Amino acid sequence: MTLAKRQWSSTIVSTANEKSKDGREGKGKAPIRSGPRRRGAALLSAGSASSAGASFRFTVRHTDGKARWGRFETPHGPVDTPTFMPVGTQATVKGLTPEQLRSVEAHILLGNTYHLALRPGDELIASLGGLHRFMAWDGPILTDSGGFQVFSLADLRHIDDRAVVFKSHIDGAILELSPERAVEIQENLGSDIAMVLDECPPADADEARLRQAVRRTLIWAERCQKAHRRQDQVQFAIVQGATNLALREQCARELVAMDFPGYALGGFSVGESPEAMHAALEPCADMLPRDKPRYLMGVGRPEDLLAGVAAGIDMFDCVLPTRNGRNASAFTMDGPVKLRNACHRRDPRPLESDCPCYTCRTFSRAYLHHLFHAEEMLGPILVSLHNVAFYLRLMAQLRSAIAESRWEMFRQVCLARWRATT
Ligand SMILES: [Zn+2]
Repeated sequence: MTLAKRQWSSTIVSTANEKSKDGREGKGKAPIRSGPRRRGAALLSAGSASSAGASFRFTVRHTDGKARWGRFETPHGPVDTPTFMPVGTQATVKGLTPEQLRSVEAHILLGNTYHLALRPGDELIASLGGLHRFMAWDGPILTDSGGFQVFSLADLRHIDDRAVVFKSHIDGAILELSPERAVEIQENLGSDIAMVLDECPPADADEARLRQAVRRTLIWAERCQKAHRRQDQVQFAIVQGATNLALREQCARELVAMDFPGYALGGFSVGESPEAMHAALEPCADMLPRDKPRYLMGVGRPEDLLAGVAAGIDMFDCVLPTRNGRNASAFTMDGPVKLRNACHRRDPRPLESDCPCYTCRTFSRAYLHHLFHAEEMLGPILVSLHNVAFYLRLMAQLRSAIAESRWEMFRQVCLARWRATT
């Protein structure tokens, strides 16, 4: 049994009397204590789930159909689920300060093992107090393992059972990422949630290739679990198998037997159709333990989040809010708004009239339109801020809907509004 498992506790509490408490309550007071890797050393006291900020605990508070409203407690504060995690690949959510992220009620951010190990280096980040201190974000952080880069940087790597060897996309230097090294990097970064190293094959991979990826993912998960030491960090396993449900089932069954504190579905949104992905989500979520958090990696569009939540997924991440924000494309409840379009040139209205974000409270569509045409850097910043706010507000609204047992109605209303505008 790993140290991480000993301190983990999870419970299912299905209760109606906690409904409507969707707002984030006081964040844990745990100070930033990440540091260079200290094998076996408890940076934060482990053990009882009730000791303040000291351990991890996942509670499902209410279910409505398959949708779950819950809370995930970490040493850096609680996360209400379902949650959306803004992506901070390079130790920054592009264009946004931690203060701005707090202002739109971001609870948890993502960092990336591959990118941070290459630049500036995990040892350097550890020597400066860990990732939380380095990027001045004192909330929870999840770090992806680099498994996705096996897919996205396919031309720059060699892979076998021992490790994946990348040729740096920055300067051509060699980065060897074994399961043990992926664990070490994430322990140096000091994230709250670390992901095991996995192999993420493309959607068009044939069955032999998928089987190979699942086999390797299982071997690597076991090695990651064995290598994991930090008590103030939990490790989530990743289920692969694309849209092949028999392979997903096999992968999930073996990972569940290893008893990880949380489980992710990887290998979605890698080229398959949205319909194929949506059809696979519910059976895949059903393969995972009910009392542990479920994370759908790298997905997606607002309608994908609704499909995931309906399937029983608790955590999501995607680069879309900031990527689209940089390209003058805003998410709204009435569908996407392209701010470069001439129709906004004299439009005094805010991007979204009932959005409480700084952008919508302060600026007109005409001003945002002007910023993009003048190629001013404030444009991408303001629309990224709004887009992250849109995603986080959507999640807050759907949490309330689940808590109040009106989730299906909420989902149908959202889909009808979005469909009417596309
Ligand atoms: Zn807004």
